[in-house]
Amino acid sequence: MESALNRITGEVVDAEQLWLLDLVDKDSYVCRGCGVKVLPASFRPTNLVRPYFTIGSSGVHLPECDVDGEQRLIQQARQERVSTPRVGFPAPYPSRLVLKERREVVDGSAANDDAVPRGRSDAPESPPRSASTAQRKRVVATIRQICRTFINFPYDRDLELSVPGVEADKYYGVFKKLKWDELRRYPEPKIFYAAMRWGKPIDEATHMEIVVDAGQREGSKLVVGHRVRIEWADWSEARKTYVRRELEVAREEAKRAFEAGQKQKKAFVFILGTQDAVDPVLFRVLDHRLICCIVDEIIYPKF
Ligand SMILES: [Zn+2]
Repeated sequence: MESALNRITGEVVDAEQLWLLDLVDKDSYVCRGCGVKVLPASFRPTNLVRPYFTIGSSGVHLPECDVDGEQRLIQQARQERVSTPRVGFPAPYPSRLVLKERREVVDGSAANDDAVPRGRSDAPESPPRSASTAQRKRVVATIRQICRTFINFPYDRDLELSVPGVEADKYYGVFKKLKWDELRRYPEPKIFYAAMRWGKPIDEATHMEIVVDAGQREGSKLVVGHRVRIEWADWSEARKTYVRRELEVAREEAKRAFEAGQKQKKAFVFILGTQDAVDPVLFRVLDHRLICCIVDEIIYPKF
């Protein structure tokens, strides 16, 4: 499972958020669907695959649990639209990004407020099966679950989505893929995305910088690629590690997919950031909650 419920804070956490913790409490997490205990796995810095939650070999979900059903729904959703006029969208989904104000912690000793935020605003709702789409909307605190929903439900991108600073209010309008063969200006704020190049990123005290597979080309060769600069001069070590780990793990995942012949699967970097006013090559990200990297195929339906 990619996410679980923290039973102490009542919040849904992405498994990747475990990278932010100095100490992972294995007893804190339960299934989002049925509340059965689940275990965090692969969260150590030495692990080459990204973290996840598992129910373990002896565990079972309760009969009413829909978490396995969600996986089946995603498989179906990659082939066809799953929203219907009668039911609307049939599962909970992130419809709003809310960034809670927080203190920046530079010494790295108390960075856990990311993974254990206060309040219950993104606590899951467990609506009855007849609930309308309106009741299934969820608030999230990072862009990751929003990006997964964008990828997983290509035929349902007319779902509502509210993101701070972005005018569009539907999934299809909030996201913008950087042009593969053109270096251009993107004046409207969006969640921008492009495949990450495999070269080693620049990793310095003030920032990390990666090149994406979009920009000016000669033939198929990228001559000037857009760069994403993660400006982390005042971040805690935990937050830097979190972003660094995700990019490293995604690069490994993408290589494995490529070697396995899954050429459509790429490491897509998503950012809610801004293009530099002077240098259009450069996109800047200032907050670790506003960047993520997911290895998958992105489907564009022909309607
Ligand atoms: Zn369950």
